[in-house]
Amino acid sequence: MIGSDRYPHLFSPLDLGFTTLKNRVIMGSMHTGLEESENGFERMAAYFAERARGGVGMIITGGISPNEEGGFGARLATAAEAAQHRIVTRAVHAADPDVKICLQILHAGPLASTPNSVAPSAVKSRISPVTPTGLDAAGIEKQLADFANCASRARDAGYDGVEIIGSAGYLLSTFLVEKTNRRTDRWGGSYENRMRFPLEVVRRIRAAVGEKFIVIFRIAAMDMLEGGMSRSEVVELGQAVEQAGANIISTHFTWHEAAVPTISTRVPRAAFTGVTGRLRRELNIPTITSNRINMPDVAEAVLARGDADLVSMARPMLADPELVLKALEGREDEINTCIACNQACLDHTFTGREVSCLVNPRACHETLLNYTASDAPRRIAVVGAGPAGLGYATVAAQRGHAVSLFDSADEVGGQFNLAKRVPGKEEFEETLRYYRRMIDVLEIDLQLNTRVTADQLKAGNYDHIVIATGIEPRVPDLEGIDHPMVISYIDAIKGTRDVGKKVAIMGAGGIGFDVAELILHKGTSAAMDREVFAREWGIDFEHHPRGGVTGVVPVVEKADREVFLLQRKSTPVGRGLGKTTGWTHRLSLARRDVKMLNAVEYLRIDDEGLHIAIDGRPQLLPVETVIVCTGQLPLRTLYDQLQDSGLQVSLVGGAYEAAELDAKAAISQASYLAAAV
Ligand code: NAP
Ligand code: SF4
Repeated sequence: MIGSDRYPHLFSPLDLGFTTLKNRVIMGSMHTGLEESENGFERMAAYFAERARGGVGMIITGGISPNEEGGFGARLATAAEAAQHRIVTRAVHAADPDVKICLQILHAGPLASTPNSVAPSAVKSRISPVTPTGLDAAGIEKQLADFANCASRARDAGYDGVEIIGSAGYLLSTFLVEKTNRRTDRWGGSYENRMRFPLEVVRRIRAAVGEKFIVIFRIAAMDMLEGGMSRSEVVELGQAVEQAGANIISTHFTWHEAAVPTISTRVPRAAFTGVTGRLRRELNIPTITSNRINMPDVAEAVLARGDADLVSMARPMLADPELVLKALEGREDEINTCIACNQACLDHTFTGREVSCLVNPRACHETLLNYTASDAPRRIAVVGAGPAGLGYATVAAQRGHAVSLFDSADEVGGQFNLAKRVPGKEEFEETLRYYRRMIDVLEIDLQLNTRVTADQLKAGNYDHIVIATGIEPRVPDLEGIDHPMVISYIDAIKGTRDVGKKVAIMGAGGIGFDVAELILHKGTSAAMDREVFAREWGIDFEHHPRGGVTGVVPVVEKADREVFLLQRKSTPVGRGLGKTTGWTHRLSLARRDVKMLNAVEYLRIDDEGLHIAIDGRPQLLPVETVIVCTGQLPLRTLYDQLQDSGLQVSLVGGAYEAAELDAKAAISQASYLAAAV
């Protein structure tokens, strides 16, 4: 196979003594919501089995609680629950007997979504509504027994091992730090005492499962918390965990309350693996590293420089279940790359919705959405090569339909071509690379620079026509909106119109935020450079003060501009942005001194600037440029012209629904329609 030459580290087996991992790629843990869904175990079985067939060496399930007080929902404590899990382990081992699957034991401690949550001390987390009960001695003993029981049940259920999460603000990690562990007994006080509970969990689990069972411990290698764990404490814990009986240490880089982005698209690829590398040199057991490793060459480089023994990819396996197989077969350019947007995965997890993937709507829907070969191939015209048109065309072509794809632009991508220009969104180019390649592989008849007309479509003898003509920017009805100082977000992002030193942005949705980020940007994008990223977010990778961030002041470089970001709603500006990434956008702009104004009434635009009123009080923003980011309207002219043609016509993406449209909805809608045509 080509890949084993190109990625010698990635495809070398790892001998754990009693068992062998066939390669170095781990599908990392991700709570998908299937754990609690109807037919969830059958759906999880299909989801994991597809990734096993796709070539990963080992899979870690989403977090499962050992008891009621530690939970988000799903639990493994009884024989009946173990029987359900067997559906998953059987499917994975049937797909490939060499693939290992481990259960992640996640006791959420103070973050558990139950009024009965427990913790070392009754310290409420900033991000939880509940104050946990501080455990007494009997309570601690019960928790330890429950961990051991859960691991035994996992072994009975056919898992090859367990991963114990000892990071992120969940139970074990709250024992480790003084802020959340105020105890004065043998479980608190000195660091030795604070480590006692996590270590006892490892010992009890090892005693319960025997030697020939994989035990992974996930450690907060750099927790990104002001006053968090020091480097020497991390090393001491790692070595003690090794002594207590773990086979593998997995490194984690956050705590849910941390104010540093660690997984979003604005984080450089493999930004944190050097931290794992330093810890690895202090240990005798293999280490796993993770975070923003999304392509095989990135993973290979991490392994080659000795940063880790194994790489964990969680979201990239949602985006493309065959990532490893494609690397092995030299088809890397066919990988549907995770762009770290979080829009369909973690944003869903943290808002209680089932997970999927923006670029792959089949993720976690393997039993519901399938692209089976059509038994009646048809001739299909798709008009518009933005995310919706690309999604439709590729799925339809994959099913055997003959697809022609038209776009008036000279490149495919539609709005994605704007998104990829925004600093921190460079990854969006990967999706376009994927689609460009699939257009070739699937032999789609691509006709760029072609503004196809209704008459041409009528004459084209198509069985089906799909209108994916997208959107046009909404132009608000406002006096002075045609003033020369007013430009659209498209011109601002493309750089086709000049932007002055004083700027008002009308509209504070995703695009208003993106435009502000772009026009204030100076120098190298933090997403493309680890040093710039560290400087902007106040991380000291080299000296690793407590948490990696203690005492480090973020320094941002900004363009010489004054920017106002405005909305009419009275809600806080940016509230509608993604759950897991919105705070990074708000913080990034606040650090660049953007003035965010809500409850704004627009009055008029004239030579003096933008006149507004807030609470009825008029004021003038003396700006040189007004950038309009006030949403979109559907472009349906062609669709309307075809209405009386008698042809079968479908409408997808922004042309179907412009309000609240994003690529997630567009690709998903298009894929479901193309799966059914
Ligand atoms: P949007 O999120 O709907 O925001 C439009 C903004 O325009 C709002 O702030 C709205 O706020 C304002 N507005 C609407 N009608 C107006 C009018 N007639 N006059 C003045 N202001 C008006 O749309 P978008 O920013 O164009 O984004 C489009 C889609 O792309 C969205 O679905 C978005 O989620 C997605 N996107 C997401 C991201 C991301 O980071 N996840 C980034 C870019 C785009 P008020 O009505 O309060 O003024
Ligand atoms: Fe990656 Fe975005 Fe898909 Fe999540 S939704 S797996 S971040 S591409």
